[in-house]
Amino acid sequence: MLAVEYHANDDVRIVELPVPEIGVGELLVRLRACGLCASDVMEWYMKPRAPVYPGHEPVGVIAAVGEGVQGFMVGQPVFVHHHVPCMVCHFCQRGSFSQCATFRSTRLYPGGLAEFIRVPAANVQLDVLPLPGDVTFEAATLIEPLACCVRGINRAAIQPGDSVLVLGAGSNGLMLAQLAQQRGAISVIIVDPIPYRRQRALEVGIDYVLDPQEQSLLEQVFAVNSGRRPDIVIVTPSSIGAMKQGVELAGPGGTVLLFAPSPPSEVLVITPHHLFFQEITLRTSYSAGPYETRLALDLLRDGRIRAEQVITHRFALQDAAQAFQLVAKPGDALKAVIVVA
Ligand SMILES: [Zn+2]
Ligand SMILES: [Zn+2]
Repeated sequence: MLAVEYHANDDVRIVELPVPEIGVGELLVRLRACGLCASDVMEWYMKPRAPVYPGHEPVGVIAAVGEGVQGFMVGQPVFVHHHVPCMVCHFCQRGSFSQCATFRSTRLYPGGLAEFIRVPAANVQLDVLPLPGDVTFEAATLIEPLACCVRGINRAAIQPGDSVLVLGAGSNGLMLAQLAQQRGAISVIIVDPIPYRRQRALEVGIDYVLDPQEQSLLEQVFAVNSGRRPDIVIVTPSSIGAMKQGVELAGPGGTVLLFAPSPPSEVLVITPHHLFFQEITLRTSYSAGPYETRLALDLLRDGRIRAEQVITHRFALQDAAQAFQLVAKPGDALKAVIVVA
């Protein structure tokens, strides 16, 4: 079978691997589609692990069912989550699923970008979701990233009447902004320097779309937000500059949510005096658990988030190198998806 093997953003290879064998409780899934994520092209994360088999947003059809598996059958269309928590450890009890030791050890083999994927028994039991007939494979690739956005929105703790500012109008920024509107934010502002992305944000109905390169961003925010800073700021880029900007923009009593990681050596300088007297909360959101994937599927099925507004590029598995190039240098693109006929 064919699989994508990552060495660097400009060195993505298609290799031949044996179809994985499956054991008790496991599934073999034939890939139909898998989205690419900005984290797939974070070289500081990926290159030290290379060669790696990337892809963590796969959906497909069950090709084989391991001994003892209940409730699944060959031919069934499914979403498979890349990691699952144990649901009973200290961290799971507190809802910190990505901190669970089981979560970190339950990976798909070889990865989401391979013609066949072995799904471990723990994943089969907890987070393989049958796809309803009205959700296409392409749309279903958004279950994983949308689940991460659902978790991010939960952690941002938006209250009805809040103003929310999202830095970055990539695919996650757009979904986060729409979720914020659906959670009762009175106004949602999205900020991006790329005209194409601002246009897409306007098309999905985000209240205010701002260009950070045009005069002072804060003045622009004041102009559309009754002279106030936003209550919630969601930072989707992984740059320290964006995080710093997010902290500076947040209003009194507000929350700043960091939605993407910076490299381990980078430092964000904050002023505790400012955070204290403005009572500003700094939070992060890492990955998603089995509750969020289920809600994400419901949101896609109900049309609350529409895949055609988010997915802009499709590539064959053989053209994965091109897809990685596109995601590594975002311009006139939102979400890129690998589609297998
Ligand atoms: Zn991702
Ligand atoms: Zn756990």
